[in-house]
Amino acid sequence: MDARGAVARINLEAVRHNLRVAKQLAPGARAIAVVKANAYGHGDLTVAAALKDEAELFAVARFEEAQKLRAGGIRQPILLLEGFFNVAQLEYAARHDFHICIHQFAQLEALERTPLARPVTVWVKIDSGMHRVGFAPEQADEVFARLARVAAVLQPVNAMTHFARADEPEQRAVTEAQIARFQQVTKGRVKATALCNSAGVIAFPEAHADYIRPGIMLYGITPFGDQQGSDIGLRPAMDFTTTLIAVREHKAGEPVGYAGSWVSPRDTRIGVIAVGYGDGYPRMAPPGTPVLVNGRRVPLAGRVSMDMATIDLGPDATDKLGDEVLLWGQGLAAEEVARHVGTIAYELVTRMTARPRLEYI
Ligand code: PLP
Repeated sequence: MDARGAVARINLEAVRHNLRVAKQLAPGARAIAVVKANAYGHGDLTVAAALKDEAELFAVARFEEAQKLRAGGIRQPILLLEGFFNVAQLEYAARHDFHICIHQFAQLEALERTPLARPVTVWVKIDSGMHRVGFAPEQADEVFARLARVAAVLQPVNAMTHFARADEPEQRAVTEAQIARFQQVTKGRVKATALCNSAGVIAFPEAHADYIRPGIMLYGITPFGDQQGSDIGLRPAMDFTTTLIAVREHKAGEPVGYAGSWVSPRDTRIGVIAVGYGDGYPRMAPPGTPVLVNGRRVPLAGRVSMDMATIDLGPDATDKLGDEVLLWGQGLAAEEVARHVGTIAYELVTRMTARPRLEYI
């Protein structure tokens, strides 16, 4: 018996395929592959290395994520989506070919007063309607004018924006208004523009512009709530698996697990699997959430605990110790599991803990 616990098997060819799908959807655009948050749980260095011939840039949220990629041998420019927060980061960014997104005046002022050995590439973030970070459209004139006078900035600058609701087909007008606002303030004033996250890449070809910024679709997951990646030709990149570590006879009317929250309606066999919220499998996954055992969909039964979860294999089950159980991936979309849990597949893959082993195929 080989009780290995949870393993996330990452298919790098699937990631490459998914980036190609994005590029085919946006044929004129270059690709900024978004690998923040450890490449949405898939392993940032390995994923970035696998995409080195396909992505023109990488994007991360945090400065340390970019440092890790550079130290790990990634050579493409790396876009810092949150920009920089002190002069040391700015100087490091310029030296290491990080592109910096600037979204507030404190960053502009730091650029104005910091001489740099090498000019830095700047992306001005315009808040076209997300209202999270970014310069308001009415501030754009001043920002572009001031940046044009900064010797430490590569001229002309680039501009980007981020969509709030591109994943909601019934809210197209909201994204269309964002596109219009962004184009109005950037047209003819910048070197390159980038608007589209995965939902934009898929649903708003008119906004593909010079660069696309796909994230979730690289991992084979659709941003649209009522679909799964395979519906649009994507391949799931992660098989999150574990093993059966016990198979137990269970009597009708008896509860299973903490709080006795699930009671079996019949005599059955309960499978115990080596995964729990200590691995990042969501504790909120209710009884009925599917897993795949030997190609068969069976439901969770009882509460997910830290290291284990229990499944109702059924009275006639022949599954045995050590059999592999798929929690999401090929044959059971993370999007479907997420719907059971009441979250999005982004969260499932990103919040896996350090415990599951990442294996690459
Ligand atoms: N661009 C920015 C600025 C982001 O913050 C993100 C992710 O949140 C992305 C692109 C990628 O988005 P998605 O994973 O939906 O493709």
